Amino acid sequence: MLDQQEQSSETQQATPAVSLVIPLLNEAESLPELIRRLQKQLTELFDGSYELIFIDDGSNDGSFDVLCSHQQQDPRIRIVRFRRNYGKSAALSVGFERVRAPIVVTMDADLQDDPDEIPRMLEKLEEGYDLVSGWKKKRHDPWHKTMPSRLFNAVTSAASGIRLHDFNCGFKMYRREVVKELKVYGEMHRYLPALAHWQGFRVTEMPVRHHPRRFGVSKFGLSRLVKGYLDLMTVLVTTRYLKRPLHLFGTVGSIFGLAGFGINLYLSIEWYLGNTYFSNRPLALLGVLLIIVGIQLVSMGLISELMVRNSINNDQYSIRDES
Ligand code: UDP
Ligand code: MG
Repeated sequence: MLDQQEQSSETQQATPAVSLVIPLLNEAESLPELIRRLQKQLTELFDGSYELIFIDDGSNDGSFDVLCSHQQQDPRIRIVRFRRNYGKSAALSVGFERVRAPIVVTMDADLQDDPDEIPRMLEKLEEGYDLVSGWKKKRHDPWHKTMPSRLFNAVTSAASGIRLHDFNCGFKMYRREVVKELKVYGEMHRYLPALAHWQGFRVTEMPVRHHPRRFGVSKFGLSRLVKGYLDLMTVLVTTRYLKRPLHLFGTVGSIFGLAGFGINLYLSIEWYLGNTYFSNRPLALLGVLLIIVGIQLVSMGLISELMVRNSINNDQYSIRDES
């Protein structure tokens, strides 16, 4: 378990109608306004039946004290505090473990997400979806955030098979079953809609208002690009291809192998026709390389299949037990 401590209020009310999960790292200045606006919105919409679960992801700017002082006025505020910074995915995961309400909302703590969008998200969810993901259609972030983000969304959209414009929006509404089933770690929070989609949940997105950051600074630097790309591979291998690794390795390996075979066949025909001066052509090397790499990939796929066979169990099926 993570190194964390929990500040629980004494009066744990009955199951609330909605749980908000809000990860935060050094957002002390934004918190008072965020809490005030959420309290107002949720009192109107859910008759005050809510819980706000804040996960303080190792802040050192007094965010925790701000939260505690608000908790004294409103026992529906729950606080989890990490002893150091573990990242947004870890924070979400710990929040998801704790939610009690049938409807779960996640949002950022920096006031970039607008609490006034919650009623529209709820309407969308009630149309019959399990996950409504926000889409920052008009985004107020600097270009060096929005440009890589476009690329990220295009690649993820193509690789995951679910067409969304904005995977990484922190503002989302879920049915409880979804968050109880998703396993979030590393930097996986970027792929939640894809993970839910592969588990068979109904996922959609809707445009949400997005504001420029008013206080503090963004917590994600350039390193997110590398990590994000590596995590996409993990996500693909552990979800889409978990039960059939040969389909992934075998397809790529066969394409490589066939291309290499074709190249060498062409060179052989040339040789047969009397053109024997190909030994200094780079194409010959490429042909051999492709065949070797192709065989290696296919073998890797076969070994993975053997490993999968030894570890098949039913945990990996997403089921709704209606009995
Ligand atoms: N955050 C967090 N842990 C981290 C980094 C960020 O809990 O290690 C929180 C942060 O406080 C904010 C949300 O995740 O509430 C989104 O972060 P940020 O606004 O910095 O990202 P951006 O909007 O710039 O993509
Ligand atoms: Mg932000």
